[in-house]
Amino acid sequence: MIFSGLCFCEFTWSREWNCLFLPEIPVISFLPNILSNPVEYLKGVGPQRADLLKKELNIHTFRDLLNHFPYRYVDKTKINLIREINPETDFIQVKGRLTDLNIIGDNRSRRLTATLRDGSGQLGLTWFQGISWIQKNIVPGKEYLLFGKLSYFLGQPQITHPEIENIQPDEPGARNFLEPVYPVTEKLKARGITGRNFGKFTATLFSLISENDLPEIFPGRIMEREKLISRFLAYRDIHFPDSLISRDRALYRLKFEELLIGQLKYGMIRTNRHLHSKGYVFGKVGELFNTFYSKHLPFQLTGAQKRVLKEIRKDTGTGHQMNRLLQGDVGSGKTMVALMSMLLAADNGYQSCLMAPTEILAKQHLDSIRDLLGDLPVGVELLTGSTKAAVRKKILSRAAEGDLKILVGTHALIETAVQFKKLGLAIIDEQHRFGVEQRAKLREKADIAPHILVMTATPIPRTLAMTAYGDLDTSIIDEMPPGRQPIITTHRLEDSRPQVMKFIRHQIEQGRQAYIIFPLIEESEKLFYENLMKGYENVKAWFPEPKFFVSMVHGKMPAEQKEVNMQRFVSGDTQIMVSTTVIEVGVNVPNASVMVIESAEKFGLSQLHQLRGRVGRGSEKSYCILLTGNKVSAEARERLGVLCATNDGFKIAEKDLELRGPGDIEGTRQSGAVQLKLANILTDKLLLEKTKIIAEKIIAADKASPDNEFRHFLDQLISRKKGVPWSRIA
Ligand code: ADP
Ligand code: MG
Repeated sequence: MIFSGLCFCEFTWSREWNCLFLPEIPVISFLPNILSNPVEYLKGVGPQRADLLKKELNIHTFRDLLNHFPYRYVDKTKINLIREINPETDFIQVKGRLTDLNIIGDNRSRRLTATLRDGSGQLGLTWFQGISWIQKNIVPGKEYLLFGKLSYFLGQPQITHPEIENIQPDEPGARNFLEPVYPVTEKLKARGITGRNFGKFTATLFSLISENDLPEIFPGRIMEREKLISRFLAYRDIHFPDSLISRDRALYRLKFEELLIGQLKYGMIRTNRHLHSKGYVFGKVGELFNTFYSKHLPFQLTGAQKRVLKEIRKDTGTGHQMNRLLQGDVGSGKTMVALMSMLLAADNGYQSCLMAPTEILAKQHLDSIRDLLGDLPVGVELLTGSTKAAVRKKILSRAAEGDLKILVGTHALIETAVQFKKLGLAIIDEQHRFGVEQRAKLREKADIAPHILVMTATPIPRTLAMTAYGDLDTSIIDEMPPGRQPIITTHRLEDSRPQVMKFIRHQIEQGRQAYIIFPLIEESEKLFYENLMKGYENVKAWFPEPKFFVSMVHGKMPAEQKEVNMQRFVSGDTQIMVSTTVIEVGVNVPNASVMVIESAEKFGLSQLHQLRGRVGRGSEKSYCILLTGNKVSAEARERLGVLCATNDGFKIAEKDLELRGPGDIEGTRQSGAVQLKLANILTDKLLLEKTKIIAEKIIAADKASPDNEFRHFLDQLISRKKGVPWSRIA
C-alpha cells in the first residue's frame, strides 16, 4: 500500500449523501433559478462593475450578492453635529458643505484633503485613493451627507475616506429606516461603490425576486418550535430591516440555518463513516499489548488514558474506519496512548506510522518508544528528511515487506511514496502543524484507508472543535498523571532581567537546566536572527564562567547541527538552551526546571502554554518566567495574567479564543476550519450547542426510519450538481 494513500475521512458514501454542499450558507435550489444569473446582468451593475465585484468580493452571481450581508445599519434620520464630537465618538454622520479641496504631497504621499463645515464646526477629510473620482464628482461648496470613522491627526478630528452622498430631497416614507452598510474594499470605494450605495444592487435584486426564488427549506416543525421567520423574509430583513427587532429576527434565523446545516453536515459525515466506511478490524488484544501492559508499562495508566484506549479499541474493532481526534493537555500522556494503539495494530498483523511535525520531536518519539518497548520484539524505525540514503533504503524495504511494525517520522513520510505491506493505523501528532496541504496529500485513494488518530498539541475550545473538527470523533484526556506539580508562572519586566538571570543561575547551580525562548519576528527574518544571536551572546555574557555551557537551536539550522545541540542539552552537557519555538512541541527533558520566554507578549496564549509544558516534566518544582519590555499594554498584561493564574490548557484555550477571536487562534486558519459567515462561535455558543443537539436528533430520526419528516429537508442538503464532497474537507 502506498503511504500517500492515507485518507482522512474516506468512506463509501451511502446512496443519498453522495455529494454535499460546501460549508457556506447554502441557498438551496436545483432548478435553474434567477439567483444563478451572473451579477453583471443586474441592472446598474454591468460588465465592468461585475468584474470588480468578482475580484474584490468574490461575488459572481445574484445569489452571491444576496449572501453579501450588511455589517451595520445607519439610521439615516440621525445627523450628528461636528460640535458634538467627543473623544468617545466613533462613527459619525454629518451634513455640510465641502470646501477647500486640495491635493498635497508628491507621488507616494499624494493625498486629497478637504474641509466639511456644518455651521457648528469644521472637520478635516482625507483621501489617499480614488482622488480623481472625487475630483470629478464632487462640487466644492455644495452640501453633502458624509459618513465615516473618526480618527485624529495632530489632535484634530478627521475622517479618512468618508462615504459621501448627495443630499436627496426627502422621499416620503424614507424617515426612520435603517440603511444597510456593506463591507467593501478600498478599490470599490475608489470606483464609487461605497458600503452604503452597495445596497442599491441588493435593493434592485429584491425587486426581481419573490418567495418562490428563496423557498423555505426547514420542515414546519422546526420552524414552529424554534419560532423562525421564513427564509425569504429573513433574507429580506437582514438587508432591509424596518426595525432593529426585525433585523435581529432575520439574523437569528440565518445563523440558525448556518449552524444547523453545518452540524448536520458533520453529523452525516460521522454517521456515514460509522455505517458505511470500510476499515481494518483489530479484533483481538494480543501478546504484544498484554506483555507490554503487564511487564513494561512503567506506571499505572490514568483513568482518562484507559478510557481513550477503550474508545480506540471499540472504533478499530467495528470494521469501519476510525477517524479520531485525541485532545489532551501538554503532558497528559498522549504518547502512551499512541504507542499502545500501535501495539494493538501489531497484534492484529498491521503496521503503524507516527508522524511528528519536527525532526527533533520524531527522534524523541523514537527514543521513548524504543525505551518503553525494551526487548519486546517490535520493529521500530525513524524516517525523516535527513535519513541517510543507505539507511532509508533498508527501512523502506522493511516497511514494504511488513517486518517493520512501527515507523516514526516527519511529514517527509508523506512526500516519499513509502510502501507499506499492511498499514493499519496512522497517527498524526501535534496536528496543528499539519496544514491543509499536507492533509490533502493524505487523502489519495487506497483500497481501505488505515485508521487515523489525530493528536492535538493544544486543547481546542469546545465550540471551535465542533465547527473545525466536527467531522471527527473526539476523545479527551482530561486527567493528568498523578504527582505533577503545577508550573509556577510569573510575568517580569525588562528591568528585572538581572534578577531573572540570577534565578536561572541559582537553579542550574543546583543541577537543573533552563530554556530561554525567543519569538519569531514575522516581518523580517534577518531581524529575527540578529535578535536571536544578540540574545544568545547576551546569555553567554550573563554566564561567563567556563563551567556553564549554552546551546542554541533554531529552525534554519542544518538538521545535524540542531540534533547535536539538542542532544547536548538532553544529555545535560549544556545547562541552558537558547531556542526558537522549534522547541515548542513534545520535547522532553525532565531535568529542565526553568523556562524564560522573551517578548512573551508576542506569543498566543495557547502557544505560551505549549512552550511552558517543556518544563515541569520531572519531579522538581518548575518555573516559567514571561519577560516583556517595561512598557506593556493592558491587554498584554491581561493575557499574560491568564497564564500566571492557571495551568489548565482547556481554560487557557477558551480564554485565548475569547481574547483574540476565532480568526486568530493558532491552527484554525490552516486547519481548514469552517468559516462561519454570520454566526460567531464565541457569542453564539448557545445557539451552536442547540443546533448540534437538533442535528443529532434529525440524524437519529433519519437513521431509525427512511420515511421520516426530515427526509425531504435532508434530501435538499445534497447537491445534485458536482459539488465539493464534504468528505474531502478534512
Ligand atoms: P503529551 O500528551 O504532551 O504528548 P507525553 O505523552 O509526552 O505527553 O507524556 C508526558 C510525560 O508523562 C512522559 O514523561 C510520560 O512518560 C509521562 N506519563 C504518561 N502517562 C503517565 C501516567 N499514566 N503516569 C505517570 N506518568 C505518565
Ligand atoms: Mg506529545
